[in-house]
Amino acid sequence: MRLLNNAGRLAVQVGAGALDVERASDGRFAADPQAVFARWDEFRDWAARLDPAGRASADPRLEPFDEPALGPPVPLPPQVFAVGLNYREHAAEAGLDLPGQPFVFTKFPASVTGPYAEIELPSDTVDFEAELVAVIGRRAHRVAAPDAWDHVAGLTVGQDLSDRAQQLSGPKPQQYSLGKSFAGFAPIGPVLVTPDELPDRNDLELSCSLADGRMQQARTSDLIFPIAEVVAFLSGIVPLLPGDLIFTGTPSGVGWTREPRRTLRPGDVLVTSVAGIGEMRHRFRARLRTRR
Ligand code: ZN
Repeated sequence: MRLLNNAGRLAVQVGAGALDVERASDGRFAADPQAVFARWDEFRDWAARLDPAGRASADPRLEPFDEPALGPPVPLPPQVFAVGLNYREHAAEAGLDLPGQPFVFTKFPASVTGPYAEIELPSDTVDFEAELVAVIGRRAHRVAAPDAWDHVAGLTVGQDLSDRAQQLSGPKPQQYSLGKSFAGFAPIGPVLVTPDELPDRNDLELSCSLADGRMQQARTSDLIFPIAEVVAFLSGIVPLLPGDLIFTGTPSGVGWTREPRRTLRPGDVLVTSVAGIGEMRHRFRARLRTRR
């Protein structure tokens, strides 16, 4: 199943069309895309019966949808976790040792935005980090790794945008969370894909590009701590809640450690994709000056 936030309403993507969930379920499920995670198992069972004969593409209830109108498939997650240094080559380019357990920080939930949003640059030190993002569908507390995927609703594409100057300011050890939580710094989308749709949920090609070329490219099979281990680790400390996000880490190629350094500039268009899920496109603009 592929789930969309179609202009603020939960929809199931069927080919090039969108099936509005509230209308198709006669109001059983709400239009709010965030609300579905509290009833994920029930919703998934309902959605599985939508198209038993594979004829949904001829369903008269299907509506066309405009890409620019798509919002984040998880618009207001209760918690947003992010794993740092989860690919060997990225840890090496950052000059940091590999962690012995997942290295976790947060992005505050209000930094989430959609897959085609225009994003304001608060400074000239903003960097990109293409990441696969896991979405929790069932509460997870002290879950063992072999059971972890039972608690994952699906996967989406994310960018862990990071203001490096802010992230790395202050005394060591620095607190990353604010530098990664400016408005719009957690774009996700364009769809939430359930793991059964993917040929291998643990091996997906991930990449991002700017006009001057491919910046990052990797496979998620290279994650040091794969999704199941991250869920097990986190849930051993704090319960994971339906609708939570886990940014799983970025591979090598970020702009900050490139020679020459390549941070995001007004007018840049950043394309981020995961094979089998989709592609996000973000244009960046300069910070608007506010008068007092
Ligand atoms: Zn990251």
